[in-house]
Amino acid sequence: MTMFRHSTSWINDALSGLQSLVFPSSCIMCAQTDQVICERCNAQWISPPRFINFVDVPTTSVVPYSSEVSSVVLKAKEDGNRVARRLIAQALYEAVDFISIRKKNQPFVLVPIPSSREAIRQRGESFLHPILKNVNEIAAVHGSNWEWKEVLIHKKRVRDQAGLNSRERSQNLQGVFAVREGVAEERPIILIDDVITTGSTLKNAILAFNERKMTVLGAATACASAHQFLIR
Ligand SMILES: [Zn+2]
Repeated sequence: MTMFRHSTSWINDALSGLQSLVFPSSCIMCAQTDQVICERCNAQWISPPRFINFVDVPTTSVVPYSSEVSSVVLKAKEDGNRVARRLIAQALYEAVDFISIRKKNQPFVLVPIPSSREAIRQRGESFLHPILKNVNEIAAVHGSNWEWKEVLIHKKRVRDQAGLNSRERSQNLQGVFAVREGVAEERPIILIDDVITTGSTLKNAILAFNERKMTVLGAATACASAHQFLIR
């Protein structure tokens, strides 16, 4: 925890210095203070992870989804906002660490859910890549050496999930992922995604690994709708 406070204040110092030259800075989440991320908002992204009501594999998440939280995810996705990326990375670090401890620190490799082909074309890389680099940096501060690998590909084009109900989402995503040809990975996998909504994305990713007889240890997500958090 102390490390996060420390690293956040480092970001705040560096970025507010730069930003104040260009824009009057305010919290990227609540817009109410003159820090790039205020103490209250930051606390949400470093709160203890919890298990999610998703039965296929042990799945963890940190931040209950809200409009403020979704604005941070959008800033990371659409604008490549560094503070937003770092917040998601903090939550993902906690979520992965929780699974790792539960699995008695056995070796694993992190595998992100890939962005859609269109999104990769537009932004040059998958949205989770810079975030995973941040996760690694945070893990290194804690003495862990976590590796991530881009292993999944999209087998078909998916419609935008926004505006689809849960049945449509699950049909839209059916059979969408495959494990890249030639990938030989002995270590079990911890899947990474920014947000879990219906669980359809994770379910289909797990199916792709099962087809190749690869083990999925768990799934770590940064945000989830509040009703999905298990009270434990
Ligand atoms: Zn705030």
